[in-house]
This record gives sequence, C-alpha cells and structure tokens, in this order.
Amino acid sequence: MASPTQLPGLPPGAADPCVHCGFCLPTCASYRVLASEMDSPRGRIHALRAIEAGELELDATVASHFDTCLGCFACVSACPSGVRYDQLIEATRPKLINAGQRSAWQTSFRQLLLQVLPYPGRLRALLQPLRAYTGTPLQALARRTGLTRLFGPEIEAMERLLPPLAAEAFSDQLPLINPAKAERRGRVALLLGCVQRCFDPSVSTATVKVLQANGFEVVIPQEQGCCGAVSHHQGELELTRQLAADLVRSMNAIEGDLDAVLVAASGCGHTMKAYGELLNGDIQFRAPVLDVQEFLADRGLLETFRTQLQPLPGIVAMHDACHMIHGQGIHSQPRQLLRAIPDIQLREATEAGVCCGSAGIYNLVQYEEAAELGRIKADDLSGTGAAFVASANIGCTLQLRRHLGDCARVQHPMELLAASAGLHPLPGVPQSVSSAEIAGKGENRQATAGPR
Ligand code: SF4
Ligand code: SF4
Repeated sequence: MASPTQLPGLPPGAADPCVHCGFCLPTCASYRVLASEMDSPRGRIHALRAIEAGELELDATVASHFDTCLGCFACVSACPSGVRYDQLIEATRPKLINAGQRSAWQTSFRQLLLQVLPYPGRLRALLQPLRAYTGTPLQALARRTGLTRLFGPEIEAMERLLPPLAAEAFSDQLPLINPAKAERRGRVALLLGCVQRCFDPSVSTATVKVLQANGFEVVIPQEQGCCGAVSHHQGELELTRQLAADLVRSMNAIEGDLDAVLVAASGCGHTMKAYGELLNGDIQFRAPVLDVQEFLADRGLLETFRTQLQPLPGIVAMHDACHMIHGQGIHSQPRQLLRAIPDIQLREATEAGVCCGSAGIYNLVQYEEAAELGRIKADDLSGTGAAFVASANIGCTLQLRRHLGDCARVQHPMELLAASAGLHPLPGVPQSVSSAEIAGKGENRQATAGPR
C-alpha cells in the first residue's frame, strides 16, 4: 500500500507541502471561470490524496475536474510551500486517457487532433481546401450568421481560431543554411514548430533575420518534425517520446558546430527542455535548448543592429505565455530586447500571470472555459491602450487574435524587432498605413473589444 503521502504512480512528495492555504486560487485560470474548489489546484490535490487513500475513484466525474486544468503552472509560481503541481498534473494526465473517462466523441476528437497537428504535411493537406475561405467575406459572413455553429462547438472553436492562410503556410521557405549577416558570433539551429509553420510562418522568418543581423548563422534542418508539445500536454507519452527522439536526431544530424537549439514558441521550448526526463537520458540534443529570447538577451544585441532600430507606431503590451513565465521562468528577457526599440512604450497586463485559455488544444476541447478566459485576457490587454501585443507562443497568439480582433495586432517579439529594424514587414500591416492610424486602433480599442 502506498504511504499516506505518496500518490500512486505520482511523484513521491510532490503534494506533501500543500497546507491548503489557497494562495494559488486567485492565479488559477480554471478556478477563475468555474469558481469550484474541485477545479482549483487545492481541490485537485485534495482529490489525488483521496484517490490515494482509497476514498475516491478516478471516474468520469473526477477526471472531468482534471480535464479543466489548463496546465498553465500559475499555481506553481504562486505556491509559497513549493508544491510541485506541475509534476502532479503531468503524472495524472496519462491516467485520464483510459476508456470510460471521456465521451466517445471527446476521445475521438482528441485522437484526431493528435493525428493531425503534429504533422505539418497532414495539417497542410487539410488546410489546403480552406485557402479559398479563410480571410474572405465568406468567412466573415459564416461567423456573423452563426453558420459555423451547425458543425458543433468544437469545430466552431477551431474555425474561430483559423487565421488567413498565407501561401508560405503551405511550404517551408527558409533554406537549410542562413548565414550570419554581421560579424559572426555563432551558429544555432531553429525549430520551425508544426502549428507555427502553418499558421504563422512569419515568426520563423523574422527570427532568422534578427539572428542573422546579430551575427548568428541559423541552420534549419528541413526534415524536422514536431517537438511533441501537443501530445505531451495531453499525457500521450508514447507519441511524445517518438516525436521527441525524431526531433533530437534531426537536430543532431546538423554538421559542424552548434551553440544552441533555439525555439520561438514557448510551449515547444517547455517540452523540449523536459526531454531529459521524457527520454530518460537515452538520447539528447548536443547543444542546449533555449528560447530565442533568452539566447539573444544573454548574448546581447549587436550595436550595428541597435542602430537600425526605429520606433514602432504604437504602444506594445506584453503577454507572458504560461509556458514561458511559469514553465521556463522567462520574464525579463523579452522586455530587455524590446526596450532596445527607440521610444518604445511597453505596458503590462493587470493579470499577466493568468492563462489566456489557449493551453495546447484546451481551447478546442474545453471551448467554453477557454472562450471566457480569452475574453478576460483580451479585455485586460486592450485596456492598456496597446496597438501591439507581444506574444511568444503560437497557441496564445491565435487565441489572442481571435479575442482581440482589430483592437490590437498580436505579434511575436522577434517580429516587432525585425519590423523595427526594417528587416521584415509586420504581416497584415500595409506599408502605407500611417503610424497614427495604427496607434489610433490601440487607443480606440475599448469601443470594439470583445469576442469575434
Ligand atoms: S498548492 Fe500551495 S498555494 Fe495552493 S493551497 Fe496548497 S500550499 Fe497553498
Ligand atoms: S495548472 Fe493552471 S489551471 Fe491547472 S490548477 Fe494550476 S493554475 Fe489552475
């Protein structure tokens, strides 16, 4: 029998320090929208202890309260006692997959997503017919009339996130070798990401240009696949390990020196930094995995790059992705980099540490809670008066774009830096649009903020 403090199959001692103080509750996104103790970290820890003691069964009802958890880890940052809720939920998720704990439709829908999202080829094949629909008046009409509701709430949630699909979304444009364009300081590999390369390919292009201009050669293995973040978040460990091992092999096949494997999506970076445990040390990257922002902040921007930077037309609000701030402890670096932009006005959200509701596929499978969180975050960010929101995670970016609409442009910090340096235009911002016009959109945001 398990000891009273050891949860079956769970990390020993991870829940022990919990003293039920409740300090984690105000930061918890699921508690925020559901207002139920069972949907809070404290309640879930209590449930795990009850399961351990044989007083509670992990049935469909109990499992549903774990499914409402976004895995944002805000509770870990907030806990004064050092409870490792991140370890608890990661160990619990594989147990939620068992038949009988979710409806047949929910199980099939999750499996479908896991069969498509990690594979850019499959995702592109599915998206191809939608090119004539996304970003057109037809899409606007379908949304306005509620036509998309006919396909069910999950499909409607997917459609609401669907961005206009650029031609670059359907093939990887960046070459294997992207040479340094300033005094050479090193050589790095870059992850393209499976969802990011299809839905926001501009991020990788801008990232490469900023790195090149700062003296780094960027290598992009053409056969690289998914990092496994989507499946990792779902507790699908076998698939995650397979994707992780494949990615390590493709990065390690790069010939020559390598200073780091860089990532421009925080969800991916968080999972890749956990490969040591996931793969039991069997196979590992030959260079450290770093978010591109922590790498560049550490190395410093070149003076030749700094002198290129021009003011941005409008206020920039910071959005901290949960897997960036809580998962990787990265907070100051994006701000440090953006402050290199002359006259930049950086604003902070009031509740910066609370999740936006994206959380992997959470906004597709727990669409109601996710939509509520998206609305709360959009109100918070638009309240800053920002014309731009800096978001370094593709999931957050899609979620914020859905809920902010025209109130502010959501761009990766690398896109903002590249635009400021005149290296890469901001997608969707016509060169002819004046600074005042873009800034005005930020200032008028409260008249139009809301779900779209
Ligand atoms: S997890 Fe931490 S903050 Fe939350 S109730 Fe337990 S001790 Fe308090
Ligand atoms: S991980 Fe996020 S949603 Fe889950 S219990 Fe912690 S704060 Fe709440």
